[in-house]
Amino acid sequence: CGIIGCVGRGDETLDVLVEGLSKLEYRGYDSAGVALSDGQIDVNVVKRAGELDALREALSEQSVSGRVGIGHTRWSTHGPPTDENAHPHTDCTGSVAVVHNGIIENYDDLREELETSGHEFRSDTDTEVVPHLVEEKLAAGAPPEAAFRAAVERLSGSFALVCVVASEEAVFAARQDSPLVLGVGDDSYYLGSDVPAFLAHTDRVVYLDDGEFATLRPSGWTVRNGDDERVEKSVETVDWNV
Ligand code: GLU
Repeated sequence: CGIIGCVGRGDETLDVLVEGLSKLEYRGYDSAGVALSDGQIDVNVVKRAGELDALREALSEQSVSGRVGIGHTRWSTHGPPTDENAHPHTDCTGSVAVVHNGIIENYDDLREELETSGHEFRSDTDTEVVPHLVEEKLAAGAPPEAAFRAAVERLSGSFALVCVVASEEAVFAARQDSPLVLGVGDDSYYLGSDVPAFLAHTDRVVYLDDGEFATLRPSGWTVRNGDDERVEKSVETVDWNV
């Protein structure tokens, strides 16, 4: 339902994510969660069914840090609103975390394939196939950006997908039939399912088109198309009051 992601905010990352999710509450949701990566070893995930306050409370009970991160408010389509079914979803190793809006139509086949090759699933969602697919590509030696891309190429359906991995200070995103907007700050970059997610930080936006992939690093952002060619996107200034 609602997505926020950011790079370049250092210690403020968690605050930016939770504030972004609060700006997306108007869309309705049944669960919420965040994942932060330190770009080296860990991806920390905290997620809860229910209101954003349930997530805030869980976050107050543990120390979660990371220099890049993603957040999600879920409106269930596959599986009831439980803590396990809340996003972000992770792979078996816990080094890949993914949030998703939309529906992955071929998740049944993918899940069967992944379970046959030893992946253990912890949720009922269509989304969870994605981190496991990324994990497979990483294990085969692909760098994170290529691993994410190869995973997305296996999917059919509608998605705005945003992913962090433990090993890199970056956020990877893909869009197909579900809105996703990139926010361009001075030294920080954002992804949102809608502009209000990051409007407190920047009013300069890039609207992603279907079939496009975006990669955000503290040093900058790039958008590539389905043929893996660099796309020159125009940066627009939005005139919004929220
Ligand atoms: N299909 C996913 C789920 O049920 C994503 C739902 C959403 O768009 O929030 O978890």
